[in-house]
Amino acid sequence: MGLFNTKRNEIPKQKSPEFLALVSRWDNYLSKIETRFYKALEQGEKAVMENFHNSNLDIDTASTAITGIVKQVDNLIENIDDTYRNKVLPSFLEYKEQWQLKAEYRKGISLASRLHSELKDFDTIVYGKMAEEFFIHTIKKLDKDVKCTQCNASITINKEILHAQYITCNYCNTVNTFVPSDDISMESRRAIVSIAKYKVIKEHQAVERIKRKIRSFNKRKERESIIKAFEERERLELDYWTKFYTEYYKMLPEFEKDLESSVQQKMKHYFYDDRMKSLKF
Ligand SMILES: [Zn+2]
Repeated sequence: MGLFNTKRNEIPKQKSPEFLALVSRWDNYLSKIETRFYKALEQGEKAVMENFHNSNLDIDTASTAITGIVKQVDNLIENIDDTYRNKVLPSFLEYKEQWQLKAEYRKGISLASRLHSELKDFDTIVYGKMAEEFFIHTIKKLDKDVKCTQCNASITINKEILHAQYITCNYCNTVNTFVPSDDISMESRRAIVSIAKYKVIKEHQAVERIKRKIRSFNKRKERESIIKAFEERERLELDYWTKFYTEYYKMLPEFEKDLESSVQQKMKHYFYDDRMKSLKF
């Protein structure tokens, strides 16, 4: 009794103050990257919106600016891995073995993965904001020009949709077909997608979070947890696509009947195919 006392056999954790100082330097570095990331996005959004307003609401001009900002911020995120491999890891290895450093390595990986996903939100947010302005502006412009083909009275178009619509004239009862010009329709189509995406960004973030959680599991050892997480992901992803298409078809009401098949198509492409690949069912 007491010979194999667990307390005595426990290997004491290495907690040299030198090593702890290195850890806290690594933590500081990561939190600085995070601060710089948010600052860059804040300034980036301001610059893009300014560009958008100065170019007379031209989304294409602004998207060049967005590409530049995204690339720059992407480089900032890539720095995390480079810094760890080239500077942090070599100094850690003076105190510990590589296998003991998994948690430190993961700190960088998980920050990078979260920031990458937030960088995608940046796209959604700025395109969404521009698309909303573009949409309102275009609708206003159209509104002024629409006259009844029969009696030339002004007719009011539905301001919620930018699409072919049939409007009965209040004066002579003629049914007018109103079709926005083709290039407006094309741009509007894109704007509608951007607006719908922006409106359901919270639901999209929830999907991204569960995907990250699934990636963090050990594929061989944690199959049960992965199956559970996939169940949650299915629910979240269905919620996301349903809300996305609800917003989308609000702006394209004549195609609303396609809502369910659109959702099913996306679920197959983004969820069921992926589950099959990971879980074989
Ligand atoms: Zn009329």
